[in-house]
Amino acid sequence: MGSPDADVIVVGGGLGGAAIALGLARRGISVAVVDKADFPRDKPCGEGLLPHGLELLDRLGCGDLVSLCGGQPFVGILYHCHGVVARGDFEGGARGRGIRRRHLDAAMRARAASAGATLVHAGAIDVATDSDGVTVTLDNETTLRGRLLVGADGPRSMVRHRLGLDGGPPRTPRFALRQHFRLNPGSPMPERVEVHVAGGHELYVTPVENDVVGIAALVEKPLMTGAVGPPDARLMSLIQGCEPLRQRLLGAEPIDKALACGPLRVKSKAVWQGRAVLIGDAAGYVDAITGEGMSLALKTAALAEDAIARILATDGSAVDVDTAFGAYASARGSAFRDHAILTHGLVTLARHPYFARRAIARLARDPTLFTRLLAVNNGTRTLLSLGLVNALKLAVGSTPPRLALGQA
Ligand SMILES: Cc1cc2nc3c(=O)[nH]c(=O)nc-3n(C[C@H](O)[C@H](O)[C@H](O)COP(=O)(O)OP(=O)(O)OC[C@H]3O[C@@H](n4cnc5c(N)ncnc54)[C@H](O)[C@@H]3O)c2cc1C
Repeated sequence: MGSPDADVIVVGGGLGGAAIALGLARRGISVAVVDKADFPRDKPCGEGLLPHGLELLDRLGCGDLVSLCGGQPFVGILYHCHGVVARGDFEGGARGRGIRRRHLDAAMRARAASAGATLVHAGAIDVATDSDGVTVTLDNETTLRGRLLVGADGPRSMVRHRLGLDGGPPRTPRFALRQHFRLNPGSPMPERVEVHVAGGHELYVTPVENDVVGIAALVEKPLMTGAVGPPDARLMSLIQGCEPLRQRLLGAEPIDKALACGPLRVKSKAVWQGRAVLIGDAAGYVDAITGEGMSLALKTAALAEDAIARILATDGSAVDVDTAFGAYASARGSAFRDHAILTHGLVTLARHPYFARRAIARLARDPTLFTRLLAVNNGTRTLLSLGLVNALKLAVGSTPPRLALGQA
């Protein structure tokens, strides 16, 4: 092939794309990142980065960004479910951080650019891989040629689609709404991400800036497709229908427009093909209920960065590519498996309020079990380490307290 525009072309410069571009540029690999958005841009996200995600940011040398971007710490999760309240904290006093994606993603891109990555502002409309490189066609009628391609273009990935790796639509899709609110002066900031489990949907409250919280609603399809009115009105009606949250937000003012997105579930047949590899949501996503998508985007970026560095250190033959991307696929599979099982389990529970309430009543009685569950979600413990007895305890749950009249 003639001289490429860059060794690696990354389509999608959100969190995952910016992270891999930064890592590759630091290794002296030439990298171009294509994104269609005008940064800083907002993105529907609960914006709670788990302790493991913070560690990954630290390893990239970007740990300082969380405070530079005005993030707020949280020590665990607090569930409200029809009158039952359970608090679980991260193991060993670890903390997560709520942080506006608008600021974090823009700051990560700036870091990637100062490390030497080229930022290209354009939409990618097609990709093709051949025996010695990749070609990306942009919506400004130009093309970019590289040796390898990274698809980091999020849940509706064009790269995944063009490579024929779409895994088909989810059978029972869920959707999301997200908006920021400034709390009434004097209202306490949440110390934990607060999750209100209501009839068939969940509402998340994440501290993201001084006095500002993000509210994310995860809802079933009929609530989205059957609903009328703009996203702000739909989110407000969900908040009004959840008494503890309505009380929590008395006097709070929205500071932006609600964003809607979905379906949340993304299936992919494989996470690489030829000279292209998928990372972050483009490679697959289960649901936002466990809030680990940003950590997984950073994790998969780090794993794919290693694979690419190995390929480029050799002559980059098809065998080298297959071996390195094959190893990436299995490492990603190991990192993803427990999260996926846990997330599927929680989505199923959320769909059965009787069992959800019993499971949360069990967590309320057993904070140690709650902490272990958070460690599995955070990737610091395996699902197996929970043990059969604890899994059964969760599945069977505990009898919740009787509801007082009018309590929801
Ligand atoms: C409602 C909701 C709540 C969530 N809550 C949390 C949470 O609390 N904690 C957590 O860790 N995770 C959460 N997540 C998940 C998290 O947002 C994602 O997992 C994470 O953003 C994935 O990062 P990414 O880099 O793969 O993709 P993205 O952040 O989506 O970035 C993709 C980028 O690709 C660009 N792009 C797309 N197509 C093209 C194209 N054709 N050409 C050029 N550019 C393109 C886009 O402009 C975008 O910048 C939540 C998700 C949702 C939907």
